[in-house]
Amino acid sequence: GPDLFAPERRNSEGFDLTDVPTLARIDAAREPHGKAEFSAQPILAGKVVGATPKKVVNPATGASVGRVTDATKEDVDTALKSAKPWAAGAAERATVLNRAADLYEENFGPIFALLAREAGKTQMDAVAELREAVDFLRYYAARGLELKQPPLGIFTCISPWNFPLAIFTGQIAAALAAGNAVLAKPAEQTPLIAAHAVALLHKAGVPASALQLLPGDGATVGARLTSDARVNGICFTGSTETAMLIRKAMARHLAPGAPLIAETGGLNAMIVDSTALPEQAVRDIVASSFQSAGQRCSALRCLYVQEDIAAHFTDMLFGAMEELTVGDPWHLATDVGPVIDEEAEQGIRAHIEKARREGRLLRQLSTPRGGHFVAPTVIRVKGIAEMKREIFGPVLHVATFDAEDLPKIIDDINATGYGLTFGLHTRIDNRVQEVTEALHVGNIYVNRNQIGAVVGSQPFGGEGLSGTGPKAGGPEYLARFTKPEPAPAAG
Ligand code: GLU
Repeated sequence: GPDLFAPERRNSEGFDLTDVPTLARIDAAREPHGKAEFSAQPILAGKVVGATPKKVVNPATGASVGRVTDATKEDVDTALKSAKPWAAGAAERATVLNRAADLYEENFGPIFALLAREAGKTQMDAVAELREAVDFLRYYAARGLELKQPPLGIFTCISPWNFPLAIFTGQIAAALAAGNAVLAKPAEQTPLIAAHAVALLHKAGVPASALQLLPGDGATVGARLTSDARVNGICFTGSTETAMLIRKAMARHLAPGAPLIAETGGLNAMIVDSTALPEQAVRDIVASSFQSAGQRCSALRCLYVQEDIAAHFTDMLFGAMEELTVGDPWHLATDVGPVIDEEAEQGIRAHIEKARREGRLLRQLSTPRGGHFVAPTVIRVKGIAEMKREIFGPVLHVATFDAEDLPKIIDDINATGYGLTFGLHTRIDNRVQEVTEALHVGNIYVNRNQIGAVVGSQPFGGEGLSGTGPKAGGPEYLARFTKPEPAPAAG
């Protein structure tokens, strides 16, 4: 297979948030965009259309961030008619995508402002997200130079609100690096950052007919973009349920063999045994469960702590949680921002209230007023088997175990059917080997946190209900966006 590390590329340097002059620079660049009204409209063959704008509000404050015009079914049809695969050679495509990466980095002011105001991203999350978007552009640009096969044609890219810049950009960059035309549907909650990104991609030189933007909901825009025979492939990140609907629509309407590249949900566990370094494990658990307000598909949902250290260990964990600042992510000191919207808030709250009634609520920080805040929460469970679905927010479930329970725990984790991330804190080498071999999980992290896979060095993606593969940010990804290699001659 190809080398894991493409030579002609570097990961983005990002920003050092411990450096005071850097913080001042970020603040100054964001400032003019702190109250500005942004807009998002369909962009069809370079034309911005539509005139019935809906409000987009800040999940932390309820204040307006701007307005969006959803695409109509006629707009989807226009986009499909106008779409043209990118005719330039791979080298020119790579130059344009690298230029887009530079433009993204230069535009950090409005990008950080939008990530905070539209998506509730803390400064730390916004920095990580911009870096990841830039890394995807440069990584796929470099990988595109290695492709032997032509593009498939027209790609539908449907992206989630939890990485409204990084995953939105990653999908598009992959499809474009391979030479496809892209129809991009951003999540309903985050069209403004998507429109901003598309403007930068066009400015860098991506042709208008190779990248069109179609904001809107799943029922109108998503459904059409996944059930039209003119579409040659689909890239999707979101829920497992939606991926299954897309799969069905594709089977009925798209050509046989059209690929679905899906990254979906997770039900991720971590095991901390009594040989783990508690200070490190606690820090990694806090990051894995509560960073991004737990709104990552990689986030830790079910922690297993070995019984003989459990009491002391959970006390340390609760102590570390007390240090977290929950609030408006516009403030640089905020560690945990809001969840994305009212529906998310109510769903997570209902789950927590049920646990409270059942006497299983172990700890909850106090909740700021105003926005869609859910404070970091810890709930007791017997194990992952009782967790029926992913709670997409800052809620950690904790179970205890004895050493002889380990094989059963591994079976229970595999039996969820999901297989995205897993964390293990131990100093027993044999255990690392045994556990990692037995688990059907895409990304396993040992003695560290289990979020924030780095493009190009930690390809990201799951097994089973968690995704189709190949892994994003890895060497096999781009080939799925091209015509398959001809089968070797029989005989
Ligand atoms: N790639 C992200 C990470 O490693 C998660 C992606 C997602 O949540 O969809 O944390």
